[in-house]
Amino acid sequence: MTTPSVAVIGAGFGGLAAVIELKKLGYDDIVVFEKGNDVGGVWRENTYPGAACDVPSPFYSFSFEPNPRWPRRFSQQPAILQYMRDVADKYDVRSHIRFNTEVDGAAYVDADRKWEITLSTGEVVRADVLVSAVGQLSRPAFAPIPGREKFQGVEMHSALWKHDVDLTGKRVGVIGTGASAIQFIPEVQKEAAHLTVFQRSAPYVIPRPDTEFSNLHHRVFTLLPATQLVERGTWYGVVEALSIAWVYSKPLAAVVKAWSKRHMKSQTKAKPGLFDKVWPDYPIGCKRILFSSDYLPALAQPNVDLVTDRISEITEKGIRTADGVEHEFDVLIWGTGFKATEFLAPMTITGVGGHKLEDAWQSGAHAYYGMTVPDFPNLVIMYGPNTNTGGGSIIYFLEAQAHYLGKLVQNMAERGGPLAVRADVERKFDEKIQGLLGGSVWSQCTSWYRQSDGRITNNWPLLGYEYKAQAKFNPADYEVVNS
Ligand SMILES: Cc1cc2nc3c(=O)[nH]c(=O)nc-3n(C[C@H](O)[C@H](O)[C@H](O)COP(=O)(O)OP(=O)(O)OC[C@H]3O[C@@H](n4cnc5c(N)ncnc54)[C@H](O)[C@@H]3O)c2cc1C
Repeated sequence: MTTPSVAVIGAGFGGLAAVIELKKLGYDDIVVFEKGNDVGGVWRENTYPGAACDVPSPFYSFSFEPNPRWPRRFSQQPAILQYMRDVADKYDVRSHIRFNTEVDGAAYVDADRKWEITLSTGEVVRADVLVSAVGQLSRPAFAPIPGREKFQGVEMHSALWKHDVDLTGKRVGVIGTGASAIQFIPEVQKEAAHLTVFQRSAPYVIPRPDTEFSNLHHRVFTLLPATQLVERGTWYGVVEALSIAWVYSKPLAAVVKAWSKRHMKSQTKAKPGLFDKVWPDYPIGCKRILFSSDYLPALAQPNVDLVTDRISEITEKGIRTADGVEHEFDVLIWGTGFKATEFLAPMTITGVGGHKLEDAWQSGAHAYYGMTVPDFPNLVIMYGPNTNTGGGSIIYFLEAQAHYLGKLVQNMAERGGPLAVRADVERKFDEKIQGLLGGSVWSQCTSWYRQSDGRITNNWPLLGYEYKAQAKFNPADYEVVNS
């Protein structure tokens, strides 16, 4: 086979990792389709006030591209986006990217064993290998509450922040208390005349050991790169310890729970009754545990109300709760997350013999180590099903996947034809993963990791280290597809 051509969809951390790995291996016939106007993915899209990573930057970054100049330990969105732009420039990724170009779908053409990719402009492009790097959190979700169209004030989603809306002196309502909401609520509280937060399910909160990295830090990190490795290694250890707590050790989970309780109690002291409202009623670890030292103090401010009554409808003036009370707002903010279980949607992906990916995934998305699907040769999915982590860094997983992609492309070139994962191999893997997840902490509450029928499609059931160690490309798992 001649040098394979590769088409990548998406230029977030996943797309960058894929392109950089392939370029390092000497492949250059690569095109990236990105519907946005820049690299960055979620870090281009999520510009809400307070947006930051919740895994410390030294670990939430590429291992091969440490950054001695992170402004903070938990860097904010502009710094993360700038890091991604710099990495894209350094590895000459931009010259491969077609920005403002959305992929509508892709079909594997049996006759010439290539992928035919259809762009929203109607243009069709062909490639040997198709890499989906569209992420799990790039399509905002609005909770299905009746009456949304009736609201007469301004509304926005955290991922579609309207920066021209001045919140000063306004009555603001926030729906949701997840990872994004707990970052923007402290910022909104400072500006709003009154803030009402609607909570369906409370998160466990632990302290956020954030710190500004001074010039001295930057100098030390630059002159002694080992110090960066120590910082990265420490945080890797901390987040893996959290995973150990959820996966293997109830006593360790109990320690984290006690730590969280102490933190949450002390941060809610100022407002009687607040702790009882914010203390979760499900096992710790079932939803992502959140690092924050300013969310609960914001809720304790006199201009904030936390409402735990169920929302029954959106009205012209605001929100009516199940107790019949109508809460009135000028601005309504949806902190309701993303359509996380709808992998690769809304693209139509068609494999061998016209098989549709959505049919293969009718009862939920599944893929071999989250990356490959039988009957879909030379399709590799980054951050695919069951590769999310409840506490670690997604970038760590993406690097393992990029490495796997490189091995697959090399093996495909050697064997002279498209590679599809064997159906029995993928089935056995999925049974193992679902078996582990069935007895896991994530099966004990509803969360964005699960479909409405309870199947857990998003999370990896073990430690990050175990993913990296197990997701090694084995040629025997794959068969060459002949037309
Ligand atoms: C606010 C926020 C904070 C987060 N914080 C953390 C954190 O602290 N730690 C952590 O590990 N993870 C965090 N995450 C998870 C985050 O999704 C991953 O860490 C990582 O950024 C995923 O990268 P990605 O490239 O897979 O996907 P994305 O960043 O979602 O990028 C996907 C790209 O694909 C493009 N795209 C999608 N569909 C198409 C199409 N049809 N055609 C063309 N282009 C398309 C999108 O425009 C986007 O640029 C956070 C997520 C959010 C939303």
